[in-house]
Amino acid sequence: MPLVTDLQRDRPEAVEMVQESLEFLEKRVNELRDEIPAYKKSRTQLDQVYQGLVDDPSPSGSLTTCGQILLTEHIKKVDDTVDKYVKTHRNIHSSISRIGKDIGRNFCESTGGLIKNEKHIESDPKCARNVSNLIVNYLMSTGHPEIAETYVQECNLHGRLDEYTAIKDTVGKVIESFRQHNTIPAINYIELNAPQEKRLIFDLVRHQVLELIKQGKKLEALTLSRKLSGLGSDGEVAQIMGALFTKADDTRFNEISSPLAWQQLESRLSEVIFKCKSILPQILETGCQAVPALLNLRSVMAPRQDQIFSSDELPIEIPIEKRYHSTFTCPILRVQTTERNPPYRLRCGHVISKDALEKLASNSRHSLLKCPYCPDESSKDQALRVFL
Ligand SMILES: [Zn+2]
Repeated sequence: MPLVTDLQRDRPEAVEMVQESLEFLEKRVNELRDEIPAYKKSRTQLDQVYQGLVDDPSPSGSLTTCGQILLTEHIKKVDDTVDKYVKTHRNIHSSISRIGKDIGRNFCESTGGLIKNEKHIESDPKCARNVSNLIVNYLMSTGHPEIAETYVQECNLHGRLDEYTAIKDTVGKVIESFRQHNTIPAINYIELNAPQEKRLIFDLVRHQVLELIKQGKKLEALTLSRKLSGLGSDGEVAQIMGALFTKADDTRFNEISSPLAWQQLESRLSEVIFKCKSILPQILETGCQAVPALLNLRSVMAPRQDQIFSSDELPIEIPIEKRYHSTFTCPILRVQTTERNPPYRLRCGHVISKDALEKLASNSRHSLLKCPYCPDESSKDQALRVFL
């Protein structure tokens, strides 16, 4: 669609333009900073000359011609430096206002009316709380509990991190050791608290084995590597075992032990430890892809007094990579769930509609109902409503 292609082309240019203005401003600020030593120097010289003349006055009590010339020269020098300083400072002001204008010209101020059922985050407390929770989840799942704690305090989300506070000291040590490339406390913690996370344990052990090899502690690496069997594929285990008998600077494992790999592993570890998975990156990614197209659509439709959402479907296809549906179709009754018949999650994790849940409950002879997808049996009361 040409509409969308135009936007995709324009946006990076707009960002580049503001970026250029910012770089220009930075240059001006540096120029100003560079002028400070010259100003200080001429100011000190003036002070010295003045002091010299005061300390050693001529017998007549007035300044000698030579003294007058000397003082005038130094005053002029300071004046010139100050003038230059003021001029650079003025230029900075014009650069700052130029950035403001660039932002105003190239970026959209209002993103209202782009989505159906629009909500105002600032004026709707429930919505604000949901957004804050998304941010807290993101901070926790990326291994920044200390920032999350401050955020929770500032947003008055009392009780939000109670579960974390209870394990804070223990997990704090686990994360701290991990950051120093010692995954042993993390391995022990996950083995004890989340033994089902076999892949994570495997990766933690693998990182540690490679780290020990790098440090020349091959015997320790060999002992630890025994944990690997049964956790990963035979090929992967064999590859790590092979590393024990090659040189310490084996480049085959650069990717696994790169700083980025450590960072990714820390995120996975945090997700498991803090029991939260963040969907904020996906939301932002989808928004970044969809908002420009919707903005364009809004500007195209506005002169014709059309509404983007006059029908249930958007008039154009929005180019987003991953689609997240806010609708759910009950696999039992094969109907789309509604507010009156919302989806319910059984204890085992399978989701069915409320009507289906009630039907299953009324058909079962005892208080437990069997999940239609797995052998698990749970009571109707254990099912939780799913909000889309
Ligand atoms: Zn089930």
